[in-house]
This record gives sequence, structure tokens and C-alpha cells, in this order.
Amino acid sequence: MLKKSSMSVPFFRYGYLYARYKEEIDRILADVMSRGAFILQKDLAEFENDLAQYVGAKHAIGVSDGTNAMLLGFWALGLPKGSEVIMCSHTYVATAAAAYFAGLKPVPVDMDDDRMISTAAVEAAITERTSAVMPTQLNGRTAKMDALMSICQKHELVLVEDAAQGLGSRYRNKMAGTFGAFGTYSFYPAKTLGCFGDGGALVTNDDDIAMKVKRLRDHGRDEDGRFVCWGTNSRLDNLQAAILKFKLSRFDDDVVKYRRAIAARYCQNLNDVADIGLPPSPNEDADHFDVYQNFEIEAESRDQLREFLKERGIGTLIQWNGQPLHRLKSLGLERPLPRTERFFQRCLMLPIYPGLSMDEVDYVCEMIRQFYGYN
Ligand SMILES: *Cc1c(COP(=O)(O)O)cnc(C)c1O
Repeated sequence: MLKKSSMSVPFFRYGYLYARYKEEIDRILADVMSRGAFILQKDLAEFENDLAQYVGAKHAIGVSDGTNAMLLGFWALGLPKGSEVIMCSHTYVATAAAAYFAGLKPVPVDMDDDRMISTAAVEAAITERTSAVMPTQLNGRTAKMDALMSICQKHELVLVEDAAQGLGSRYRNKMAGTFGAFGTYSFYPAKTLGCFGDGGALVTNDDDIAMKVKRLRDHGRDEDGRFVCWGTNSRLDNLQAAILKFKLSRFDDDVVKYRRAIAARYCQNLNDVADIGLPPSPNEDADHFDVYQNFEIEAESRDQLREFLKERGIGTLIQWNGQPLHRLKSLGLERPLPRTERFFQRCLMLPIYPGLSMDEVDYVCEMIRQFYGYN
């Protein structure tokens, strides 16, 4: 048996990102660096090709991070200044910030029981100033995109996706990020496809958006190096791209499969605990294929449970530091959203990542069961 009392299960293991593939990573770094290939080189182009192919989009463009991917996407779209972008309150501040810095107004709305944006809330929030709807493909799940697409069609709104957490997840067999005008991913180390620093990408089927984003990320330069529009510096490092290309080739087998296996184990072990609300399990319905960026539960006496687990060496996290968009008063986003409000009294994320053993998952579950008096 395991010595449970001495177990330490951190919320995430950053060091494992390197340890797992040390040999391959060392080889890639040495190769790229000895070629002196740092900015906008072939490794980036190859990664972009592979990513586009993986998600089934015409174009993928590597950028500095997920936040700038959204910002550049909005700049390329050129929506009317001051127009409103409807998004889920249960998202990172970056989603709203991207809209804000593109001169748009973020409008947070309530969530549904599966934690995704509520389609009813989206419809209710539409005004004559609305220009776009931007679901966040949260926790590695893709929202019910058919409903959102038909709302957008009906009201002539642009659909865009913050798929920072959604890479590889699917709704009705279509990949997160590929439903609207553009979709964006983040390669922040703790994301499912994490690099060794910041990184992000935008995917689109629209040639014009792709061309604009390529210019915007590189000082407004076209393929011939001429400055043809205003731009900024938001390039994905070639070194990161080379690592991401390698990791993407192992993504389904090494990451997605394992995360889904952990999620299934959590669901199986905690299914009968009445004090806990579980996220949808991996094979709950045929429409969704989830990749479990996070395993976010709802828990009775959440703060006490968190403390109890901490004392037993288990790291947990409350998403967005407990601050969904509608709580950000200083940013002018405050409004009453009862479903999201209630959720944030109760939500907690459990450890889930390659590098977490099934024994550790069982230990986490055992401690949760102990806390609620189950055995
Ligand atoms: C991580 C994340 C972002 C930001 O991505 P960065 O690469 O850190 O800029 C945006 N939205 C969501 C939902 C995220 O989880």
C-alpha cells in the first residue's frame, strides 16, 4: 500500500513538461539554436501547417500568446468601434481584455449547467449594438455550437471562439476553434499543449483574416517585408514552435487520452458523493468530445474541503482566482449573474495532467470521500 499521509499531489507539475521528453527537447533545442533559427523560421511554418491540419482549419498563425491571438483576431475583423461582444462570465479576464483593447465592449453573460455559455443568456443579451458572440471553450469542452451558430446567423452576428482551453475538443466531431470567423489557442505551460513560456495561435478559414493577422503580428509587414499597415510584435518564437510541433505530434496519444482517463477515474470514484457536482464524464454524450484542460467540480463547503485537501498534500485551484468577469467591478463588468455567482461559491479544480498517476487520483478521491464522510 501507498503511504498516504506522505503523499504530495501538486495542482500542476511544471517540471514534468521537460522531464517527460528531456531527450527529444534537448535535441530540438540544440538543432534550432545551432541553426540560428529564432524568429519566423521554418519550424514555425511547419508547426502552423500541422496545427491547421490537426484542427481542420485552412490557416493557423502562431502568435506570442493566447491573449494577443484574440486581440489580433479582433483587429483583423474590424468590428464597429464600441460595439458589444457577448461572452461567458466564466472566462479569463483576457477574453474581455482582448475585446476591450480592440475598442469593443465585453458583455458577460451567465453559464449553463455544463459550465459553458448559456445560449438563452446569449439571446437575451443581444441588443442593436451587439456585433459578436465569443464562447470560451472552457475546461477542454466545446459549447453547443449549433445553437450559437444559428443565433449568430439569425441576428447577423460574428461568431469567434476563445479556445485557449479547448484544443482538441470537439462538438459534433468539429474541433473547437473552427466554428466561427476565427478561434484562438494558448500554449501557456499549464495548458493541454503547453510550451516553455508564452505562446498562442489563431486559426481561421478566412484568407483575409489570416493575411491581416500575419501582418499584424509582425509590425504590419507583408511577405516582401514592406510595411503595409499598422502592426505590432506578437510573433511565436521559432524555438517554442519547434517544441510545439513535436508535442502536437504526441498530443492525442500522450495528453488527450490520459486526461480523459483521469477524468473518467474521478467520475467513477466520486459519482456517489452527493455533496459534489461533477463535470460531464468523457463518454456522457455523443455530441461532445472533451479534453479536460481542467477537472472542475462543484463542492459543498468548498473552502473547508480545499483546506482539508491542502493539509493532506493535495493542491487545488479556484479558477480565475475566484473572479469571473461579472465580479470585476473595477473594469466596469459588474452585473448580477445568479447561476455563475452560485457556481463560484462552490467551484474547485482538482489536479489533472500527464505526470499525475492514477494512484494519486485515487488518493485525491479517497481524501474527498473522507471529508464528506463516505467510504
Ligand atoms: C489561458 C487562457 C487565456 C490566455 O492565454 P495566454 O496564452 O495566457 O494569453 C485566455 N482565455 C482562456 C479561457 C484561458 O484559459
